[in-house]
Amino acid sequence: MGCNAILQEEKIREIYKKNGLQAILFSTSCLFFTQDVQYLMLVLKRKYMSNPFGNAMKQLDKAASIMNLDNNIHEVLKQPDRVLTVSIPVKMDSGEVKVFTGYRSQFNNTLGPYKGGIRYHWNVTIDEVKALSFWMAIKCATVNIPLGGGKGGIIVNPKEMSEGEVERLSRGYIQKIWRNIGSDKDVPAPDVYTTPQIMAWMRDEYEKLVGHPDPGVITGKPIEDGGSEGRGYSTAQGGVYCVRELAKKMDMNPSETTVAIQGFGNAGSFMAKILSSLGYKIVAVSDSRGAIFSEAGLDIAAVEAFKTETKSVTDFPGVKNLRNEELLELDVDVLVPAALENVITDTNAHNIKAKAVVELANGPTTPEADEILKEKGVILVPDVLANAGGVTVSYFEWDQNVKGEHWTEADVLEKLEKIMVDAFNDVWETKETYGIDMRTAAFVRAVERIAGKME
Ligand code: NAD
Repeated sequence: MGCNAILQEEKIREIYKKNGLQAILFSTSCLFFTQDVQYLMLVLKRKYMSNPFGNAMKQLDKAASIMNLDNNIHEVLKQPDRVLTVSIPVKMDSGEVKVFTGYRSQFNNTLGPYKGGIRYHWNVTIDEVKALSFWMAIKCATVNIPLGGGKGGIIVNPKEMSEGEVERLSRGYIQKIWRNIGSDKDVPAPDVYTTPQIMAWMRDEYEKLVGHPDPGVITGKPIEDGGSEGRGYSTAQGGVYCVRELAKKMDMNPSETTVAIQGFGNAGSFMAKILSSLGYKIVAVSDSRGAIFSEAGLDIAAVEAFKTETKSVTDFPGVKNLRNEELLELDVDVLVPAALENVITDTNAHNIKAKAVVELANGPTTPEADEILKEKGVILVPDVLANAGGVTVSYFEWDQNVKGEHWTEADVLEKLEKIMVDAFNDVWETKETYGIDMRTAAFVRAVERIAGKME
């Protein structure tokens, strides 16, 4: 028969390493596998399918074909301008030196200095950082602010480190990348597990190295260190403006609009608080331990107090506990993923019952799920628009630093509202003109702006 060999796990890994997943999938057509090996293939397939940079490029290709993007510009937009990989030696409290790996991806600076957060997480990969830097370029262009796309990350679990170790790591990262950043070159900011305090250490280290003040080198700083009013809740506030505009388009009345929010961290909890103060009915929220649901609507201030005390929203008295996956499939008007990447996939998209999805998280929906949601008639407000409030107020912070100004919270909110409402309506009109989904429409507008300046 010739095809009846049973390959062992090492062999599979070897093929995957050398030739990628396609080779393994090809092999499966003529080989018998043990259950363990089949499982390994499934894991590899998931890993391959959910590669964030692969997903980002599929989104770019889709927009490029709709707008007939010039091939040369398309080619340039397929790779970052530069990706720095650095080793950061850190003296731990024990006296031992540990070396951490960090990245900074500078994707595109056609519209202005590279801009994007720095993530501290044990799952950081170079592909993730590249994808996030690409989405930052698209995001800034979608809301039409004069910044490009960048992103950084360090493979580390900061929760296992002392404050002193995190400070030495943060300063060490800047010592490795300082020549490539600056308020006119590349402006980092906080992201997952990085804080305003970390930004303050980074700014201090940068200024020591260049020998002059440059407060605009980093955003997301504490207010007393040059930060902007309103930055703390700006991502959620931008998402709220999108929900408000969407409600107008879809004839939804706040008091009759039900909302489920996945994730009760910075973005999700502020979203819950602001929407609830505007009269929306928040029926479900979740965190990493699980979800809670109340048909009558949750008292968000009480849930927040409960979470502060118990560290989780689960077991909040008088409501139903749900599994995290169940929250995503609730019959609500608006679903807000505000936690992780790749949570709406081809596995569960068919079961989504929400009329609209507003992506506060980065990359929560895979391209396959996008297609399924579109077929089902679900309106999806994409991350590059829905969570752009954060980078918009970062832009305000940078602008204030460069001009030596400090704006009031009312000023910040007024400017943020105008930018978000204009961008929402611009993307909506593009969607109507081309008969496409809102993500592709946002990409079309963003790429048009970048390409217009590159030509
Ligand atoms: P965060 O760490 O403050 O909160 C994340 C929340 O998600 C936590 O409540 C955590 O318990 C919860 N969570 C983790 N795993 C979960 C799971 N399996 N199911 C349900 N909940 C889970 O982070 P954040 O700053 O709120 O960021 C959340 C998302 O929003 C990320 O994708 C981030 O990139 C994106 N985002 C945030 C900002 C910002 O300004 N904070 C800006 C743009 C985009």
